[in-house]
Amino acid sequence: MNVLVINSGSSSLKFQVIDMNTKQTLCKGLVERIGLDGILNYQPGNGEKRSQHLEIPDHNTALGYVLDTISCNIDAVGHRIVHGGAGVSAPLIINDKMLVEFEKYNSLAPLHNPACLLGVKAAQKFISDVPHVASFDTAYYTGMEDEDFLYALDYSLYEKYGYRKFGFHSASHKYVNLRAAAITGISPDKLHAISCHIGGGVTVAASIGCEGVDTSVGYGTVCGVPMGTRSGDVDPDVILNMIEEQGMSAKEVKEIIYKKSGLLGLSAVSSDIRDILNASSRGNKRAELALRIFSRSIRRFIGALAMSLQGRMDALIFTAGIGENSAIVRSMICRNLDVLGIKIDENLNNSCSGESIISAADSRVKVIVVPTNEELMIATQTIETIRS
Ligand code: ADP
Repeated sequence: MNVLVINSGSSSLKFQVIDMNTKQTLCKGLVERIGLDGILNYQPGNGEKRSQHLEIPDHNTALGYVLDTISCNIDAVGHRIVHGGAGVSAPLIINDKMLVEFEKYNSLAPLHNPACLLGVKAAQKFISDVPHVASFDTAYYTGMEDEDFLYALDYSLYEKYGYRKFGFHSASHKYVNLRAAAITGISPDKLHAISCHIGGGVTVAASIGCEGVDTSVGYGTVCGVPMGTRSGDVDPDVILNMIEEQGMSAKEVKEIIYKKSGLLGLSAVSSDIRDILNASSRGNKRAELALRIFSRSIRRFIGALAMSLQGRMDALIFTAGIGENSAIVRSMICRNLDVLGIKIDENLNNSCSGESIISAADSRVKVIVVPTNEELMIATQTIETIRS
């Protein structure tokens, strides 16, 4: 059974066809730098790699190129849906009514949900005779306790409007936690870990037994750590000042915090960490500042979320585009983390490739780099949902 997985990130669209009988990837690809100078990277499965620069202004165009590129038979499609609200805890077979329901959450994940839903509709049109399954970014955190997911607002606002923390990147955090359990030899139901998904979007999660117990993100997808274009945490008084004193509209403020902040806003160079690292190494002070704020914020969340691990941390995990590939960023994040028993070996950090332990021999916590495989998690959930 071949499952096509479609995973739209904030600046990328990943796709993969997996033969679930053998767990082999038949073809995969990544459309990256969407909205900048688009690149379609495609691997047909025979080891060959193709890369094409294309005009890719948005996710919809990206998906058009993807569907043109795939030639193998598809039996089911698994979609990553970032925000499905509080009502969803497990993957679901998609129907039209559900799509209307998910649109309600577009404003809470404006960089993803509209793209995900466009992706679902386009894929349903092109591949209409197979089931399409939604896998939710929020699902990993359904066991979070009320003391962790509630804001200290008037409780009736939660009852009336459902204001609470959700948590995102479920498939990624689940996958890397399961891998960390295998790598450390700790039983998956016993592992206490912090995982840092550091890509265009950034989430830090605390997990016990490979289930999310706390997270850096919240009701929507803008808070926590600064991201490629998103601000991360900002004092609500700044937002109120923008509206009340500076006369900005809610739409303008949203544009600022979702699209003009984070690495891009701080550096005025780019939302892409490779551009920031380049500019910083050439002496660009604002790029260097962006880098420092970015890594400091991740470190601060590691410290805060460690408090949700019930007194034990076995592993600190790095994953996603930046977490897997940037030794400099990992090194900056881990600076002075010995206070939590975390010490990396710079040689191992610099030379690592693929799944690697990069902690020093005397580090109490294992620091592990795990290339994420959200697609395999989503394909597995897709098959389980169809068969249940
Ligand atoms: P998303 O899916 O949220 O768009 P990704 O996980 O694809 O994000 O990560 C995108 C980020 O990863 C970009 O900032 C990009 O610069 C960074 N990245 C990708 N490859 C590398 C690399 N080889 N070295 C450093 N950073 C990289």
